[in-house]
Amino acid sequence: MLVGISCKPDEFCFCGELGIESSSVPYDLFLAKGEGGFIVLQGSQLGAEIIAGLTNLTEITRLAGKTAVAAETAAHIDRAVQRHETFDDSPLWDDFARRCLSCGACSLCCPTCYCLDVREYGALDGQTATRIQEWDNCLFKAHGEVTGGINFRKTRRERFRYRFLHKYYGFGPLRGVISCVGCGRCREVCPVRIDLLELFCEQRN
Ligand code: SF4
Ligand code: SF4
Repeated sequence: MLVGISCKPDEFCFCGELGIESSSVPYDLFLAKGEGGFIVLQGSQLGAEIIAGLTNLTEITRLAGKTAVAAETAAHIDRAVQRHETFDDSPLWDDFARRCLSCGACSLCCPTCYCLDVREYGALDGQTATRIQEWDNCLFKAHGEVTGGINFRKTRRERFRYRFLHKYYGFGPLRGVISCVGCGRCREVCPVRIDLLELFCEQRN
């Protein structure tokens, strides 16, 4: 049984209108804090059976509307994604690249980041090797490095562009949703307060 619980909207989260709750995540029950109790959503037959057994449940309803700020931010993203706006000329890319420490915290905390690396370590016998798949981070310089010392993304600016393009335009065509759930964790943890959303909010039409 899968029971979801809504996040508490805060200054970083913008998941409000990205369609995550309703479209792509299956659940049996979904709880959202309401006044004096919880709002309960039923997502499956199992959830319905559980609700039927709750004697003190007074009403079943849909989740309350999203926060205005989250909805506005999500609307900017939606418009830009629809237009395939990649903000190539934005001065923000240079600003991000200048400030970024390449610490990787934004990817580490991201619930949808999954980049990996595959490394091979030769054994002392000269005959065998161990191949390991390990977590990696696209903001690390070594992530774009391949055999021969060639690096596809040498600069921080290029690495930022890659992360952005993958999140919003690379994953979508494959899975039908962008690779960002709007949790806002990356915005919160960045030690130099870099926020990719500034790109979307820069253009509001
Ligand atoms: S806001 Fe998007 S990119 Fe940032 S941590 Fe959450 S899912 Fe990842
Ligand atoms: S958390 Fe901030 S400083 Fe660290 S890699 Fe991400 S954008 Fe750069």
